[in-house]
Amino acid sequence: LVKAYNIKKKFDDVNVLENISLEVKEGEVVSIIGPSGSGKSTLLRCLTQLERVDSGKIEIDGKVMVDTKDGKTVYADTNTLHEIQLKVGLVFQNFNLFPHYSVLKNIIDPQIVVLKRSKDEATKIAMELLYKMNLADKSHAYPCELSGGQQQRIAIARALALNPKILFFDEPTSALDPELTGEILKVIKNLAKEKMTMVIVTHEMAFAKEVSDRVIFMDKGFIVEQGTPQEIFGNSVNQRTKEFLSQMN
Ligand code: ATP
Ligand code: MG
Repeated sequence: LVKAYNIKKKFDDVNVLENISLEVKEGEVVSIIGPSGSGKSTLLRCLTQLERVDSGKIEIDGKVMVDTKDGKTVYADTNTLHEIQLKVGLVFQNFNLFPHYSVLKNIIDPQIVVLKRSKDEATKIAMELLYKMNLADKSHAYPCELSGGQQQRIAIARALALNPKILFFDEPTSALDPELTGEILKVIKNLAKEKMTMVIVTHEMAFAKEVSDRVIFMDKGFIVEQGTPQEIFGNSVNQRTKEFLSQMN
């Protein structure tokens, strides 16, 4: 579903992504771990078009977003980029809900704007998702009246309402109290059961261990090591991975 080859990205003179290549298959849950500043968020931002790469190739659901040939990096035309954008959802650490909109409006509006759904259809879909998130009774509340865990579930519902083929999460639990991360873990596990393809950047190793099919360890803009949770957490071969994990415990 996602194929990236040799992605490079610099900010000023600093190489933030160096020759990143990765694949995510349909139905897979992949976690990305690594020290602060290792380029995890930048990688997600490049894969979701919030940031442009300097070079490399990215293909999403069979469509080429960007490619570098003979030293020239070319992005697809606006229409293709838009089509690709529709296939990806992104959930941030800080939920990014509109504070002055009700929960329901937060989930309905993007459907009307982005997918041109009717208000009735968008409302129906929003309510189904709220039931699924166990938040149907909160549909008329405002984000500030909800706990962090509830707000994050609304943010996930909002992303799901647009029918993405893949969901990217950037530290979905890091703004939450530990007891609330369990709620999000449960939601992500349920989505995994439904075969939703997900890429999750997280600082929580227990979380990564539990939800992922595969774990990628990044350091200083490189993918240092990747494997199953057992391989990475139980038996990592790379010294830098080992050092990082020992600091996390
Ligand atoms: P964290 O775990 O702290 O979230 P990260 O792995 O997500 O870290 P990034 O946010 O991708 O790391 O940042 C990687 C590097 O790129 C850092 O050195 C950061 O300072 C730099 N960087 C990120 N965004 C920008 C920007 N817009 N302009 C300049 N430098 C940036
Ligand atoms: Mg980050």
